[in-house]
Amino acid sequence: MAGKVDLDGNAIKPITICMIGAGGFIGSHLCEKLMHETSHKVLAVDVYSDKIKHLLEPATLDWADRIQFHRINIKNDSRLEGLIKMADLTINLAAICTPADYNTRPLDTIYSNFIDALPVVKYCSENGKRLIHFSTCEVYGKTIGAFLPKDSPLRKDPAYYVLKEDTSPCIFGSIEKQRWSYACAKQLIERLIYAEGAENGLEFTIVRPFNWIGPRMDFIPGIDGPSEGVPRVLACFSNNLLRREPLKLVDGGESQRTFIYIKDAIEAVLLMIENPARANGHIFNVGNPNNEVTVRQLAEMMTQVYSKVSGESSIETPTIDVSSKEFYGEGYDDSDKRIPDMTIINKQLGWNPKTSLWDLLESTLTYQHRTYAEAIKQAMSKTTAN
Ligand code: UDP
Repeated sequence: MAGKVDLDGNAIKPITICMIGAGGFIGSHLCEKLMHETSHKVLAVDVYSDKIKHLLEPATLDWADRIQFHRINIKNDSRLEGLIKMADLTINLAAICTPADYNTRPLDTIYSNFIDALPVVKYCSENGKRLIHFSTCEVYGKTIGAFLPKDSPLRKDPAYYVLKEDTSPCIFGSIEKQRWSYACAKQLIERLIYAEGAENGLEFTIVRPFNWIGPRMDFIPGIDGPSEGVPRVLACFSNNLLRREPLKLVDGGESQRTFIYIKDAIEAVLLMIENPARANGHIFNVGNPNNEVTVRQLAEMMTQVYSKVSGESSIETPTIDVSSKEFYGEGYDDSDKRIPDMTIINKQLGWNPKTSLWDLLESTLTYQHRTYAEAIKQAMSKTTAN
């Protein structure tokens, strides 16, 4: 990739990146991008490698000498500091970030999002290494608008719901609603990283993803994950569509989300990697404010898109309502609305999301159909035979 320059026209030097959580959904797309389009090296750290095995084998691949997999659990492995020291930049993606876990595995959630991230921050700070830490849009919590009367015209005013990195408050629910324990753990690690920057000069960038979705996200229950497992909404709805069962709308499907295509979001991360002078010391929302829907609208759109890509007509009752208690158990709470403000990332990195919701669903559901339809058919015929 000779001749590649950064946003200020300076040549980009190849660097070594220690990527913790490289085997997950985001990590797999980031590794792919780095191998296909850059000359950077990746020390890929994870406990699983299934989602990146196409990048690791065979040894004849073009980039074989630029990616190394280290099967390490960062909770208890002394090799971590050595890898961070060998790298120029560390990217930490490792964390539990699935709502079904927040109220069923609250301790694991808090540990993975706060305690386990502490040594990573410490090693970066002590060794003078740059850190890109993955946080969440959940740190904003509920919108101010959620507290206005249902019929208040102010609910329509963006000032009451658009989420801005430098001015929006972070509003969490009660302790027994454990989504906010996740949000709180993420917020505290952000504050700690910020403080390391302020007191000890740590060079950091914090990323707040807003519902990044695409191929390889989570798992399809009973196929490449536990049959009783509950992944995030894209995989839940994909699973329902593949099995020709109704999509389950939790508490009426009224919550709103903005979905961004993983490939658009990865472009933003690459800009952060290659433009440290513009990214250091910043917290960036990364989302697509143009792709807002209610969960009910998402279900309707996914049903239509899936019909198109699979060639199968949709079932007679495409959605059913379920209560959150039934679906997630006691202690679940939801975020009402999440619209990212894009001013800071736009100013610093000139980045904007591109892909519409329809287009990103079309490519993602084409992948889901191609990857899982046959396996689901076989699994379902086995169950019927038994
Ligand atoms: N949801 C739903 N049906 C499902 C899975 C999720 O209605 O089968 C809803 C969930 O209650 C939430 C939204 O979809 O309102 C997004 O959930 P997700 O797990 O993707 O993560 P979140 O955006 O809440 O972090």
